[in-house]
Amino acid sequence: MKETTKAIHTPYQRRDAFDALQMPVYHTMAFEFDNADVMADAFCGRTNAPDYSRVLNPTVTHFEEIIASLAGAKEVSAFTSGMAAISAMLLSTVRAGQNVVSSRHMFGNTYLLITNTLRRFGVEARLTDLTDAHLVEQAVDENTACIFLESVTNPQTEVVDVRELARIAKAHNIPLIADTTMIPFTQFDGEALGLDFQVVSSTKYISGGATSLGGVIIDYGHFPEISRLIKKDAVFNLGGYMTPHAAYMQTLGLETLQVRYDRQADSALKIARMLEKVPGVVEVGYPGLDSHPYHDLFKELYGEKAGAMVTFDLPSEEACYRFINALKMVHRATNLFDNRSLAIHPASTIFGPLTPEEREAMDVKPTTIRLSIGLEDPEDIFEDLNQAIAAATA
Ligand SMILES: *Cc1c(COP(=O)(O)O)cnc(C)c1O
Repeated sequence: MKETTKAIHTPYQRRDAFDALQMPVYHTMAFEFDNADVMADAFCGRTNAPDYSRVLNPTVTHFEEIIASLAGAKEVSAFTSGMAAISAMLLSTVRAGQNVVSSRHMFGNTYLLITNTLRRFGVEARLTDLTDAHLVEQAVDENTACIFLESVTNPQTEVVDVRELARIAKAHNIPLIADTTMIPFTQFDGEALGLDFQVVSSTKYISGGATSLGGVIIDYGHFPEISRLIKKDAVFNLGGYMTPHAAYMQTLGLETLQVRYDRQADSALKIARMLEKVPGVVEVGYPGLDSHPYHDLFKELYGEKAGAMVTFDLPSEEACYRFINALKMVHRATNLFDNRSLAIHPASTIFGPLTPEEREAMDVKPTTIRLSIGLEDPEDIFEDLNQAIAAATA
């Protein structure tokens, strides 16, 4: 079966008692057992019968199994948010005294997780330029626990050659972990690219239009000890397991993922091309554009469709504020891959709490606007952007 079909036809583990066509939402915290023996087996992990919904729930399991099937993964673990998945991933991978090799071009909270939170537990952040294999080789040493990257960085739209990083990770026998939130796992074969784990904020494309928070770890099974720590230590002891309600919403989201992604990516390309011609727009950042510095690499790794995040630069920070204020239909909001189009000025919002020096080191420019292109008619979206740019740069 192809991805679109699998997303709809992945069977449940067990036939539902009433043959419900949708996976029921098992809104129960505990599950009953027939006798002490089967109860002991379940609690000690000798069977996979659910006992308590903080650690196992059939609605969540079904969601995980669809993703495993779509991504060709050995195992998938679902969490309450993207950050819960990323923290469970890293806490299952690093120990005190080790380091994480990554980049300054990173989602703000992941950056702070590595540079602040994990640092308090004796983990060093080695931030380098992941597009330069030579620098990465220099950064990796015998204390490196993993290499961590993002498929398309936000808002810089940088794309790193994961195949190069995979070669380095393999040579050192350490996992290569990618946050692939920006490009859904249906678009590429992560294992063939050399990834050992993907982490995804399923709040974004997967949720079905900003219906719920969630995160997943997609595990190819190359590092069994890390897999065990994720499924046992992290899920049981950290308590970030996805809720059944979120799993239900996001299972519905998976059913329409491919049509939404195709439509949003097509609109984003159309709009990015039109923005390039608008007077007052200094630069457009979209990997689907021929003019983008990582256009060819992006296509090789992730295919023709380049997602729904588009950035562009205006002549000044003041113009960015005027643009945001002049929008009539596109919403002033954070988040990505909602059904609605969204716009934000990252430097003053998501990255606002950082110092100007930190923003500069992360290449978060005060002149950049970030768009998330929704499912509206692309002409309506462009018309609003165009009038707001005209108002901002007049
Ligand atoms: C949104 C996002 C996250 C965090 O996900 P939450 O679901 O908000 O916790 C992590 N990485 C990337 C690339 C994101 O866009």
